[in-house]
Amino acid sequence: MNTPRTTQAWQALDAAHHLHPFSDAHSLNQLGSRVVVRGEGVRIWDSEGQCIIDGMAGLWCVNLGYGRKELAEAAYQQMLELPFYNTFFKTTHPPVIELSALLAELTPPQFNHVFLTNSGSESNDTVIRMARHFWAAQGQPQKKTLISRINAYHGSTIGGASLGGMSYMHAQGDLPIPGIVHIEQPYWYVNGGELSPEEYGLKAARALEAKILELGAENVAAFIGEPIQGAGGVIIPPSTYWPEIQRICREHDILLISDEVICGFGRTGRWFGCEYFGFAPDLMPIAKGLSSGYQPIGGVMVGDRVAQVLMNSGDFNHGMTYSGHPVAAAVAAANLKILRDEGIVDRVRDDTGPYLQKKWQDAFADHPHLDDVRGVGFLAAFTWVKDKSRRELFANPGEIGTICRDIFFKNNLIMRAVGDSMVSAPPLVMTRTEIDEMIALAVRCVGQTMDALA
Ligand code: PLP
Repeated sequence: MNTPRTTQAWQALDAAHHLHPFSDAHSLNQLGSRVVVRGEGVRIWDSEGQCIIDGMAGLWCVNLGYGRKELAEAAYQQMLELPFYNTFFKTTHPPVIELSALLAELTPPQFNHVFLTNSGSESNDTVIRMARHFWAAQGQPQKKTLISRINAYHGSTIGGASLGGMSYMHAQGDLPIPGIVHIEQPYWYVNGGELSPEEYGLKAARALEAKILELGAENVAAFIGEPIQGAGGVIIPPSTYWPEIQRICREHDILLISDEVICGFGRTGRWFGCEYFGFAPDLMPIAKGLSSGYQPIGGVMVGDRVAQVLMNSGDFNHGMTYSGHPVAAAVAAANLKILRDEGIVDRVRDDTGPYLQKKWQDAFADHPHLDDVRGVGFLAAFTWVKDKSRRELFANPGEIGTICRDIFFKNNLIMRAVGDSMVSAPPLVMTRTEIDEMIALAVRCVGQTMDALA
């Protein structure tokens, strides 16, 4: 158990010894971090006893909500039975076998194998190595460039951040590494101009074809994209985009990688984002909802075409000590069984997802300064804009978004600001009543933001 302390004591110790990810330590320490101590369902509690609606499911990952005892029990039993053994050197163990078989059952039919990791970033590092190894094993070592997109997020390791298209991340650490290039993101609201969303979807996809022709298909290993860009601001491509991307990848013989770290495990109301958009990737990085965040675990689903080559080309010299950690695997399997057996993904598709989206629309579609109210399943966003009639954003992106995010935070609702887009991805177990409560609170907070701007 943790030592009981006052909030101030926690904050002082935290400031003295803990460097936070993606944070400016100076401003964080002046403010004092919020100390989160407990979670139940769609809510978390802080050390002051405040009850907070978690509109972000942690970091887009607590799909099952907090406090599921079955997952704690799975971890406890597995720790007693076998807390660790590796899966290197011709060994395996039951939790990894069960999880792998379950993933083969739940993922699209081309996936019958998984390579396990500890995070989404490691999964994306793995796809870089795997895609290059796949082509090299077939006598094409030069076919190694990966094409990604501006404003994509694929993790924070050197490989993941290079695949990502966040310029502020590239600016630290001399990224991207060689052999990774970026094309336009399919963001109709900003880049679509006079084109209809469908016309623009084709245009954005054809930027991939242009890049492949520029580089030479014989030099390009793969294209990677999130079905819906999450950390980039919930950017939902037009319906024409993914089918055209798939055509281009097939025609030029380029592997297609769908980063399902956020979209996977029910977030879109389908098990995987590629199923929502109707395309069939060769590789699928997964993490987050795989264990609903109860344990750090990720993986790469490997399609049959790639798996056949990998399995016939000797050692793949890659792996982490904790690839297929038994406790994480046992918890992930327990999580997936609950998602499946309680029909949680179907409920998001047929009931709570459409309800949530309609509620966001009703709340903000007619607001004078909010536009592009968008979403799929349990992913949603809306954007503060200067002039709706011209799709004109405010001059200092992030300024209003941050004010609004802080007001949400003060009112005990967690949402995220990406520029001036307010983003939400609640636990998939959120009920209609809880949706009503969350959106009523968001409406009040938007009102307070308007007052703050006046
Ligand atoms: N890929 C996507 C699409 C993500 O959203 C994230 C994290 O947000 C990652 C990869 C990286 O995952 P992790 O933070 O587990 O390394």
